[in-house]
Amino acid sequence: MASMDKEPVPVEGEKTDLYGTLDKLELYNCGKCSKTFRKQKQCEAHMREAHPSTTKSR
Ligand SMILES: [Zn+2]
Repeated sequence: MASMDKEPVPVEGEKTDLYGTLDKLELYNCGKCSKTFRKQKQCEAHMREAHPSTTKSR
């Protein structure tokens, strides 16, 4: 009889919230320049090409 104590999570606004969060979560930011990439591999490739001195490899 204690399960009725909790309030249901409001669903409205979830779409807008998810949209904004997803947009930020799906983007990878380059630490050297303010470029954003959708995939981590793209970000890594960019860092190697644009900022070769940043990569630890070699
Ligand atoms: Zn960069």
